[in-house]
Amino acid sequence: MITKKTINDIVETSRIEEVVGDFVNLKKRGANLLGLCPFHNEKTPSFTVSPAKNIYKCFGCGKGGDPVNFIMEHESVSYPESLKYLAEKYGIEIEETQTSQAHKEEQQKLDSLYVLNQYARDFYHQQLLQTDIGKSVGLSYLKNRGFTDETIEKFGLGYAPKDKDAFTQNAKRNGFKGQQLKKLGLTSKYDSDFFRDRVMFTIHSVSGKVIGFGGRIMSKNVKAPKYVNTPETEVYNKSKVLYGAYFAKRAIRKSDECILVEGYTDVVSLHQGGIENVVASSGTSLTVEQIRMVKRYTQNMKILYDGDSAGVKAALRGLDLVLEQDMNVKVVMLPEGEDPDSYLQSVGSEAFKEYIESQANDFILFKSELLFQEASGDPVRQAAMIKDIVASIAKIPDPLKRSLYIKECGHLMKVEEEILMNEVNQIVTKSVHQAEDQRKKDQRQYARKKAAEKAENLPSDPGNFPPDAPPPYLMEDEAYDIDGGAAPPPQSLRRRPAAANSSEYQEKDIIRLLITYGGQQFNPENNDITVAHFILSNIEDVLDDFDNDLYQRVAQECLDLTIDGTPITPEYFIQHEDKDFRRLAIDVLQPEFEMSPQWLERHDLPLRSQPMPDANFNLDSISSIYWFKLRKLDKLIERNKASMKKAIDEKTGEEDVMKAMKIHQKLMEIRKDIALKLNTVIVR
Ligand SMILES: [Zn+2]
Repeated sequence: MITKKTINDIVETSRIEEVVGDFVNLKKRGANLLGLCPFHNEKTPSFTVSPAKNIYKCFGCGKGGDPVNFIMEHESVSYPESLKYLAEKYGIEIEETQTSQAHKEEQQKLDSLYVLNQYARDFYHQQLLQTDIGKSVGLSYLKNRGFTDETIEKFGLGYAPKDKDAFTQNAKRNGFKGQQLKKLGLTSKYDSDFFRDRVMFTIHSVSGKVIGFGGRIMSKNVKAPKYVNTPETEVYNKSKVLYGAYFAKRAIRKSDECILVEGYTDVVSLHQGGIENVVASSGTSLTVEQIRMVKRYTQNMKILYDGDSAGVKAALRGLDLVLEQDMNVKVVMLPEGEDPDSYLQSVGSEAFKEYIESQANDFILFKSELLFQEASGDPVRQAAMIKDIVASIAKIPDPLKRSLYIKECGHLMKVEEEILMNEVNQIVTKSVHQAEDQRKKDQRQYARKKAAEKAENLPSDPGNFPPDAPPPYLMEDEAYDIDGGAAPPPQSLRRRPAAANSSEYQEKDIIRLLITYGGQQFNPENNDITVAHFILSNIEDVLDDFDNDLYQRVAQECLDLTIDGTPITPEYFIQHEDKDFRRLAIDVLQPEFEMSPQWLERHDLPLRSQPMPDANFNLDSISSIYWFKLRKLDKLIERNKASMKKAIDEKTGEEDVMKAMKIHQKLMEIRKDIALKLNTVIVR
């Protein structure tokens, strides 16, 4: 087990903006950073990172947490693996206590797939460098391609021997199970090696884990395919992987551009030549998932095609996918007979860079020109060509960009602008309707999900209220009038959303204040009391009356901490061993109204109703306590009314009725008092 001290070191050193920044392109927005959520598909960023609070939160899909959570979620790894990742990133040495055998086995099961893949990588690598056959077949091939020792090392290149089951036998001798080997596609179902006599390219996840392999055949007279890849496994999903992304991600962000090539050797070769923002889609045509991955780093994509135009047109059709994702796409055709690797070798990296810069064509214009040349003089083909181009243009989400393209393409293809415009508009209108339908469907789904979650959180026993009746204090005006008490609280305190105006909301507000500000001084002039102390000492008598069990547990824990003199901090709850506590902490620390800038933009809300949340916690604490107490009091009043009614109905005697009425009177006095105080707080 990793020691508590190491965990603290890691947690204190990790900066959320840096950890997330390795995977998501973040832009500054006020005190926060904003980017496209890596956990769900979105076009407007709602993924928010708060450096001050050291947490992230997505307002689209609701995911949130600290750096450790982010790595767990993003890389699908366990808690200790996430800690190890961060320790490595920040150069922190991990101290471990002796682990029990059972724990070891558990851990091994968890890590085993990656461990085995890493083992395979090391095996192939060692075969390449240290066996005669590896050196004479594999290494000489790679050296012929001009790869240096450093490059071979960096990319983990290797050689899979010819023998039927050299790797499988070796792995089994070293304790790996045949079942695991098959699970990772390293061993075929007949117990022979999947990769044989091939130069091996290690495929990494974006975070650098070995997830699969690509192998290029070495023998010339075999009918086997030139390249084979690891089949789909639990850790390798080829439509989500781009070869080289792990090595390219920083350069892509830095240059704000991603270069896409076709082959593994192209990626390796360009990296070696100092062009590092390069990836390849391994063995598939580009997928939406791959584009989304690139889009987390940049909006700009440059696609390099080998200098034979045969496959280009088919490939171009697939590129509409990229347009749909609102990427700027450029296309570069290499000179006749060249691929990126060969061309770089022949001209050197400076000339190569210059070439792809100067020869980069806008994708749509490139496509128009290509099709126009083909269709010239053939009206039928011309009509088909227009439909084709129009379909591409219609995929561009930005209307301004679309109209520019219509102008240029019309000119290029000698077609009237208006005709193109009409065609495009027809398609766009249709797809807008489709998108709208989809959006509504998504929204309904999301609302259902939220409602279900909420239902789960609500107490199963609604107390004295019928389940679907609004809590009594929703009828606040009535209540205040009847009892002649204080006027309803002014608008400022009623800024709370109506739907949230429930018992649960009052309780959550208390919890929010405890988690967010619990450790701070309540009154700066009077230094000896914290916000938590103030709140808890005021509600201690009703602490057991929380309706929501989770909130009650948090409040109880805050009380325990306060009694112990342990400081209450947001971090304490973010890192809490109870995952419900963690989730709640993230939830209350990043409330949506505070954090979602595009929400404000969309609804054009002025900032008037957004007092700086951090500046108001004293006032908030006081009013929250009163609201909370008022709510609890209303419950008592209702309960008392019920027993009064019961006493009357059942004729149990005047005494009981009188007693209940006295209690009622007393409760109403307290209520009036609290309402009055509440009013004072707000007016102040
Ligand atoms: Zn999300």
